[in-house]
Amino acid sequence: MKNRTLLDGWMMKPLAAASLGAMVVLASGTALAQKPASASAANNKPAEVYKPIPGFDLSSIDTSVDPCNDFYKFACGKFAANHPIPGDQPEVDQFYALYNVNTQSLNGILAKAAAGGADRTANEQKIGDYYKSCMDTDAIEAKGLAPIKPWLDEIDAVHSTRDLPTLVGKLQRNGIDVFFGYGEQQDFKDASKQIAFVDQAGLGLPERDYYLRTGAKDETIRKQYVDHVAKMLTLAGTPAEQAQKDAAAIMAFETTLAKASMPVTDRRDPEKVYHLQTIATFHQSIPAPAFNQFRKAISSPEISEINNANPEFITAMMKAIDDTNIETLKAYMRYHLLSGAASRLPKRFDDENFDFYGRKLTGQPEQSARWKRCSNAVNGALGEALGQVYVSQYFAGDSKAKMLEMVHDIENAMERDIDQLDWMSATTKARAKEKLHGVANKIGYPDKWRDYTKLEVKADDALGNKFRGTAFENDRQLAKIGQPVDHSEWGMTPPTVNAYYDPSMNDINFPAGILQPAFYDPKQDDAVNYGHIGAVIGHELTHGFDDEGRKFDAKGNMSDWWTPEDAKKFEQRTDCLVNEYGSFTAVDDVKVNGKLTLGENTADNGGLVLAYLAYLERAKMNKVDLSAKVSGYDAHQRFYIAYAQNWCENSRPEVIRQQVLTDPHSPDHFRANGAIVNQPGFAAAFSCKKGAPMVPVNSCRVW
Ligand SMILES: [Zn+2]
Repeated sequence: MKNRTLLDGWMMKPLAAASLGAMVVLASGTALAQKPASASAANNKPAEVYKPIPGFDLSSIDTSVDPCNDFYKFACGKFAANHPIPGDQPEVDQFYALYNVNTQSLNGILAKAAAGGADRTANEQKIGDYYKSCMDTDAIEAKGLAPIKPWLDEIDAVHSTRDLPTLVGKLQRNGIDVFFGYGEQQDFKDASKQIAFVDQAGLGLPERDYYLRTGAKDETIRKQYVDHVAKMLTLAGTPAEQAQKDAAAIMAFETTLAKASMPVTDRRDPEKVYHLQTIATFHQSIPAPAFNQFRKAISSPEISEINNANPEFITAMMKAIDDTNIETLKAYMRYHLLSGAASRLPKRFDDENFDFYGRKLTGQPEQSARWKRCSNAVNGALGEALGQVYVSQYFAGDSKAKMLEMVHDIENAMERDIDQLDWMSATTKARAKEKLHGVANKIGYPDKWRDYTKLEVKADDALGNKFRGTAFENDRQLAKIGQPVDHSEWGMTPPTVNAYYDPSMNDINFPAGILQPAFYDPKQDDAVNYGHIGAVIGHELTHGFDDEGRKFDAKGNMSDWWTPEDAKKFEQRTDCLVNEYGSFTAVDDVKVNGKLTLGENTADNGGLVLAYLAYLERAKMNKVDLSAKVSGYDAHQRFYIAYAQNWCENSRPEVIRQQVLTDPHSPDHFRANGAIVNQPGFAAAFSCKKGAPMVPVNSCRVW
């Protein structure tokens, strides 16, 4: 359930062990989620100073566009011209802009910690030395393949499939996700229990359909992937001709895994990824001797039951292993090891890895600067050690109190909204309110900080630090199996520019990283902040009641608390959103996937309604004159402009294409317009007339 990347979904690639859970995040960023990009030369310092975008950004508004015609173009029309995409980024949007500002802040902390000195605290030594080793490209170059040689030797020593379980366990423990995923989750049906899961994984391309879809675009990507795999193997010493053969065989093996993998849309359904089995039953899929060797190697406690998330996959994977030449399986592990370690290997590996995962998949021409990548690597490995310093320097105390006030306003707005729904019975309303009252609010940073004492960090061991950091997090996650749930735990680090809802915990989480401009701007009034971060709060809260979240109750258990009639009415209403968003064309001929994005669209729509209701109530309490103009716009208008400006973006078409194919969030343009068009207060705010594109005949409304 806990993951580092900003890719949304049930199955997330976490810091360490694979992990499965229901956590839904606010935004995804292809750049932030891609495999570690590669290391270019010595770009050790920020070349420019990143500045935050203000909460109300007049410079992005294009007044030549009629807001009733295309509100996104009106609110964000000049954003792209003002924010050209730098070569080292796949896109610019509000998240990326703040991410850059934040990375700069982290880099300042880390450069100081890396400078050393005897008075460093234990945590400062760890974050400083981790950063220092990551930045030291000369040392990395000088060591060549030596740091990874013991691992390559272990793969070479494999004689038969009997040698695989222990090696696969060790690789996965260090973050090299081969064959399948193994991790810890809360039991969907008993959230007080922490159990093990196995799941589909082991692919080098973003997800299954990249292997199976027809069409020139995908065929090109597959060919580029095979070439890339061959190049990586060649760089590590495989003769070129053999590497080509190996790469083709790896592609065939991964395609078999892809065919047995579940499509992204199905994976959003918690019931489809939940198959609790006793360990005896599970051993019909993976026999006890092999599984126990794997389990010990990945440092998992003994287990009595397991969620076999996709049983067909595990069966097909075991068959594929039996059907595949052992030399191919060795080459497959070798490639994934090299790719996973590339950011701490000599430049030729890092460059080649970036060439495929960055340049070819996302269209980004240049590698991201090393200081950015290393700063965020420390945030990934030691996020709460770094976060502790970050919070003390960058998180103003009063922003927490203001956030809490907004969260309570929005929860109160949801309570009033539930009371007034004309389509829901009193029985379901009572259960919905019970769930709402059970939501825990987490703001800024955890109450108690994680202890990194046992993680060894050395100033001259870049790859070792990466592997040990990943193993440390893997062990921490797996040690939770069989233990009581710690409700104070966070699934994101404090500096993260994002937010999430977790249905098993039934909590909404807003790390300190996102509580900055443009999302939260203390210099702006409530109209703007409720439009920005207020809608984000409403978004996360509504996730508890979207098509996934509604299947979990107040205690985080998957249980059906809806009357059959209300469930049916809910689905009729969400069908409206599926059709609305499914009609949007994202790029070329690729349309938004209305089913894949349903949960996020429901959250965007509901979140905006709740933020608006909460704002009106707060303004009434504070006797605010809503018609008073600031910068030429009244309060209603500034609220909607601020909301739309959450989603101002300038993206490369490759990024949008990858997003539409893999990401449960709609592209930003539609996150703005798709939700605004359904708002009851919007037409009046901009005096839009019936028949205007932003005033539909039948608007969709779920919450
Ligand atoms: Zn979301």
